Amino acid sequence: SLKVGQDPVQTTCPYCGVGCGVLAYPDTDKPVAGDVAHPANKGRLCVKGTSLHETTGQDGRLLFPMVRGRRSDWAEALDEVAGTIWDSVKTHGPQSVAFYLSGQLLTEDYYVANKLAKGFIRTPNVDTNSRLCMSSAVAAHKRAFGADVVPGCYEDLELADLLVLAGSNAAWAHPVLYQCMKAAAREGRRVVVIDPRRTATSELADLHLALCPGTDTVLFNGLLTWLADKGGLDETYIQAHCQGFEEALKSARAAAPSVASVARQCDLPAEDVETFYRWFTDTPRTVTGFSQGINQSVAGTDKGNAIINCHLATGRVGKPGAGPFSLTGQPNAMGGREVGGLANTLAAHMDYDSPGARSRVAGFWGTGAVAAGPGLKAVDMFEAVYRGDIKVIWIMGTNPAVSLPDSDRVRQALARCPTVIVSDCVAHTDTTAHADILLPAAGWGEKDGTVTNSERCISRQRCFLPLPAEVKPDWWIMSSVAKKLGFAEAFDYAQPADIFREHAALSAHENNGERAFNLSGLAGLSDSGYDTLVPVQWPVLKSTGPDTSDSKRLFADGGFVTDNHRARFVAINTVLPAQKASEDYPMVVNTGRIRDQWHTMTRTANTPRLLTHRSEPFVEMHPDDMTAAGLAEGHLAKLSLNGGHFVGRVRKSPEQRRGEVFIPIHWNRRFASDGVATLLTESVTDPVSGQPEAKHGRAAITPF
Ligand code: SF4
Repeated sequence: SLKVGQDPVQTTCPYCGVGCGVLAYPDTDKPVAGDVAHPANKGRLCVKGTSLHETTGQDGRLLFPMVRGRRSDWAEALDEVAGTIWDSVKTHGPQSVAFYLSGQLLTEDYYVANKLAKGFIRTPNVDTNSRLCMSSAVAAHKRAFGADVVPGCYEDLELADLLVLAGSNAAWAHPVLYQCMKAAAREGRRVVVIDPRRTATSELADLHLALCPGTDTVLFNGLLTWLADKGGLDETYIQAHCQGFEEALKSARAAAPSVASVARQCDLPAEDVETFYRWFTDTPRTVTGFSQGINQSVAGTDKGNAIINCHLATGRVGKPGAGPFSLTGQPNAMGGREVGGLANTLAAHMDYDSPGARSRVAGFWGTGAVAAGPGLKAVDMFEAVYRGDIKVIWIMGTNPAVSLPDSDRVRQALARCPTVIVSDCVAHTDTTAHADILLPAAGWGEKDGTVTNSERCISRQRCFLPLPAEVKPDWWIMSSVAKKLGFAEAFDYAQPADIFREHAALSAHENNGERAFNLSGLAGLSDSGYDTLVPVQWPVLKSTGPDTSDSKRLFADGGFVTDNHRARFVAINTVLPAQKASEDYPMVVNTGRIRDQWHTMTRTANTPRLLTHRSEPFVEMHPDDMTAAGLAEGHLAKLSLNGGHFVGRVRKSPEQRRGEVFIPIHWNRRFASDGVATLLTESVTDPVSGQPEAKHGRAAITPF
């Protein structure tokens, strides 16, 4: 589908869950532009988006298959992959094979990976780096609504008269959404930012609640108590559409009985807590946006539900300018959720324990059965590799040797693993260094498919560059391996449209009703319809099709996806961070993104422009902590934990809480061997979602 010399190609940005529409030019010297026709960004782009054309070159690309350190070709590489998987299944059973996927994959790639693994190889051990990003929000949605559904849309962030941002530095992590939030400023509109640290987003705040890290459930339990005591409940909505309110309120009262108690536990001024509670009570149009500061926690799911409880209690769900809103990190984290990319899901939003799901999926795929699951979630998966239970791991488009907590142990696990297969567009990463078989995968601009952004909007990502050298799309690579394994008929795809139609058809079953994931209106899409598909929010029902579908908001009048169609309040107890500061490790470490980099910098570091904002790893700390540690602005500080360390340039930050430092997550060992943040976070996870407590670590600090 190369369109040299033609009009710009409408595609989407691959760098975050906002999912901005991009106009790209086959002539790569011409900068990309924002697509005014795309509903997510209406022409806006952040600096990562406007730099996209600078990252499409072939420097550092993986261009040929590599087998055990030498250049190979597809015939041999596919034989090696298929043969290794086959041998492992025969000798050690299907569960000895694992797939670790990425929110960078397109939905069609994800679908093929899931089908191959769970349907045909019969291993449930498929998980994705989205586990690190939003799995707590997924679990919270399921507990409350019965399905993983974001009830609102981006427009609500602008319509809200009170915008609450919890654990979200949107100014840096979701810059275009932040621009929209900023542009929506008007008399009477207020913004509350809940974050231990004063960030760029705090500049928008009428009230910044710099709470003690990990105390978000206390704050929102206190809000539920306040709403009940001050006549702030929507009793009619609760009675008509919800269940479990009394139990949730009882837990809230026990955990957060008064403003004074909340203020003490959260280390906040009582008057600020009360101001927040009054504003929330008095503002029908309230949206609470939440992101990794909520999700990346041992209580991430509870935090999400504590927020959702307050919205259910006030009937503020799925209404214009009112609702809880999970801001997803990755461009296609939601697309991956849709096809079953998480270890606890099966396909098309069905869990392993959804009624009839296994037989339905097995029947649809014609396999007779599917893998017995759920499978291992990301942290447990790499621990199983370390133990030797997993013999073959296939990693696609992600860099777990840097991004997972306790990443040195992940590297050791990969070094021990008999066969590591890596598909990537980048030749040299901390993870490809451990690969026995390297498969060159198509990158942005070279592949065709769909992605789904944070507001359930499915958009086409379109190809506008030729595939270089022996590079292939991920769906082609996996389908070719499937054919080698003897599953040719089930993987006889000629193009991504074939895969998308199959995925959409699988979603069209009776359990996926009108308010849940349902793409029945797209199952009959023609090739040209797929080519020209305009952004559309799911569900897309057969009765409407994509052209007249209106799925902006869900659940305003109830109709949840639970058995009795009532939303569930969840009783929340206080669980504080597992990684506590101690005598040996007295500093609390807060981690996060910076404005101009993406994940482990394997692509964004190739653009000098994106290194001008922050060019090296750094440590932001309070001036009093700097003095106590014998450090000054510009010094190098060494943070240490259990033999691992992180070295960064000290940046004075008077608004950092005392005893806490902030470090960026991005640097990998190739760009800064001492700058890997995940050496300071341990492998502790939320017991419900399996998401690591990656936001929070601890360390000793000394001059370097
Ligand atoms: Fe890309 Fe996100 Fe920036 Fe939009 S906000 S241009 S999707 S990185």
